[in-house]
Amino acid sequence: MRITLDPGHGQFGNPGAIAGYYEGTRVFMLAHALKAELEKYENTEVFITRKDITDNPSLASRGGAAVKNGSELFISLHSNAASNPAAHGVSVFRSVKRPESESLGRLLGDAVVNAMKRQTEITYLRGVMTRTESFDGTVQDYYGVLRSSVKSDAVKYSFIIEHGFHTNLTECDYMFSDKNLLEMAETEAKVIAAYFNLRKKDEKPADYIEYTVKPGDTLTSIAREYGTTWMALAEYNELPDPDLIIDGQIIKIPVYDEIGVGDTVKIKDGVGTYYPGGNPFSGWVHDYYYAVSRTCDSNGEPVRRNGDRCVLLGNKINKKSGAHGSSINSWASVNYLEKIK
Ligand SMILES: [Zn+2]
Repeated sequence: MRITLDPGHGQFGNPGAIAGYYEGTRVFMLAHALKAELEKYENTEVFITRKDITDNPSLASRGGAAVKNGSELFISLHSNAASNPAAHGVSVFRSVKRPESESLGRLLGDAVVNAMKRQTEITYLRGVMTRTESFDGTVQDYYGVLRSSVKSDAVKYSFIIEHGFHTNLTECDYMFSDKNLLEMAETEAKVIAAYFNLRKKDEKPADYIEYTVKPGDTLTSIAREYGTTWMALAEYNELPDPDLIIDGQIIKIPVYDEIGVGDTVKIKDGVGTYYPGGNPFSGWVHDYYYAVSRTCDSNGEPVRRNGDRCVLLGNKINKKSGAHGSSINSWASVNYLEKIK
């Protein structure tokens, strides 16, 4: 199934009760962690409206993304705000056009409540609500992301989830922890998987290398260096708290079947650009050709585009005839490629 996740706002959107908390940054991290969790299930393709933390698309294009990529489920992730710092709790909004999504909305809301209630004052779900307004003489969703997401019948479930109030000190504190975001992502993914009967993929056995933590390192900085994510490292190392790593600690970096120079690679299905935020490629590049990886670095340094390690795609190879053709000559993210041989 296809799912679109929409982390609300932009990078510095909506500061919270604690210095350094921005709703737009925290929900970005939560959405990417949820994507990683959902992709552990078979036949699950997850699109995200903000690939880079600085992205801040219009409301219409966020909901429109679900329509465009044919998603069955759309979730816009937020934390709530109020002028009264005592205001608290979890709310789910569903599209007024999708009454049948009420039960999934309740399951998701209850799961968020259960995750947050151990560390906050939250005790129950405020509700699965609708908010409407009259547009062009008809009753429609008040929220632009919901309104734009249900323009296709294919989008059967459309939600906004408010993960507590960032204007409430304890709820802001909860959402400010990476560890809590990982747990929240896992919890929400389990609810979605159970509802849609998704099966877990077999985990790939992975080799690893050992990295010794140096002063100033964070899990994010180590992940960036090795072309992976802090979520993947936290999970692989079973870190109880990803915010807490200490000098001299050994972090295992999983090594999957790495793409090297001279390998034949294929661009993965469903990928539309060479690397995150990069140029889209013509369909024939994916449909008719493999490519030979020509180099993996520049002046001895690994090449990265928007955080992803890249290889330079050289000669193309016709999938049917095996004939070699001219060079594609573009850097491509290793995460977007599959090694053929
Ligand atoms: Zn919001």
